[in-house]
Amino acid sequence: MEEENIVTQDDKTISAEHATVAADRPESGITPGDKGAFRDVLSKDHARRGKPPVQFSDMGVDERIAKAKELGLPKFRVKQLANHYFGRLETETDAFTDLPAASRADIVDAFFPSLITEVTRQVADQGTTIKTLWCLFDGSHIESVLMRYPNRTTLCISSQVGCGMGCPFCATGKLGLTRNMSTGEILEQVRVAARMMRDGEVAGGPGRLSNIVFMGMGEPMGNYRAVLSAVRQISAMPPEGFGISARNITVSTVGVVPGIRKLAEEGLPVRLAVSLHAPSDELRDELVPMNRRFNTTQVLDAAHDYFLASKRRVSIEYALMRGINDQAEHARLLAKRLNHYGDDWVHVNPIPLNPVEGSRWTASKPEDEQRFLDILHRAGITATLRDTRGSDIDGACGQLAAKTREAFRSAS
Ligand code: SF4
Repeated sequence: MEEENIVTQDDKTISAEHATVAADRPESGITPGDKGAFRDVLSKDHARRGKPPVQFSDMGVDERIAKAKELGLPKFRVKQLANHYFGRLETETDAFTDLPAASRADIVDAFFPSLITEVTRQVADQGTTIKTLWCLFDGSHIESVLMRYPNRTTLCISSQVGCGMGCPFCATGKLGLTRNMSTGEILEQVRVAARMMRDGEVAGGPGRLSNIVFMGMGEPMGNYRAVLSAVRQISAMPPEGFGISARNITVSTVGVVPGIRKLAEEGLPVRLAVSLHAPSDELRDELVPMNRRFNTTQVLDAAHDYFLASKRRVSIEYALMRGINDQAEHARLLAKRLNHYGDDWVHVNPIPLNPVEGSRWTASKPEDEQRFLDILHRAGITATLRDTRGSDIDGACGQLAAKTREAFRSAS
């Protein structure tokens, strides 16, 4: 079971109903905790939707070879297909000119079924920020956001449809979890964005997709196996992957400790981002329900161990909410708790909350944001306040959807 989805592991307390759901890879609904399972908040339409079509990147090498054999193709064709997908970013029949013309359509059907279809594309920041809404095979919707900066281009991707973590201030959390995404669905967001960059579809001319952040919809650790497979294929060199350095990949979590520890064991130099949002258990229990399973000490211990294992500074994401978690005492406690582990192991990203309409959680006052930041700096902690422009929306899990919506509303 080592390779199984972490969502489904090691829990004896899950109900038969949930166990059945959890056994089915694309579905989920259970995230393990130290005192039994954390029950993901499920969306109204969470139901068995069937599995997404299996695509090239969902298959192991042997599966690819076996599938090719079924189509009467020799083994070397698999490498050609990998070159098309990962190297040339192609999945269209017409592009496969080095494959037998008579079987090209069958090959595409077998290896590259359509997984994501663009519904809308919105552009902000003079064309350097592009948010795409995608429709999946079952009618589910997810988003990805491409952001071009002077020295890098970052794609923020989704790993689940909705999110089951239930944070009360978060737009995505309000949706609940519909299902996990497959590796193929996750990677298609990357392939399309890499192609847009290569083909000069983003303002600034042709370029290269350089960074990936798993900060779109969903809790990546709740879909561990598919996310890890995606990370490996994003970072492998063509034709095994897209060739984006693992150092330029960030995996976020709300604090699923087994996921953090498992990721540390993988030995990949990916950056970890922890959405902390509160410095004490009392407050975090209220803001982040997962804290009742893994408290702040367990989360910070795991984050610091991740830093030691990966030698990569951990990002601490902190959505600033007016009068809730943005006061001087919160900043002081946060600094104290982070400094407890030593110097220079974290980078804090306080992010002004983009409030969900009608919610009691609202954005901090600018002077409170600044004071929060100043206290961290005075305590020797590296911290950068994210702004709320559409061009700087890779802030925190779940904040993405709300922020981009806001950004595009004000841009249009
Ligand atoms: S804040 Fe993050 S973990 Fe919490 S519900 Fe929103 S997307 Fe999920």
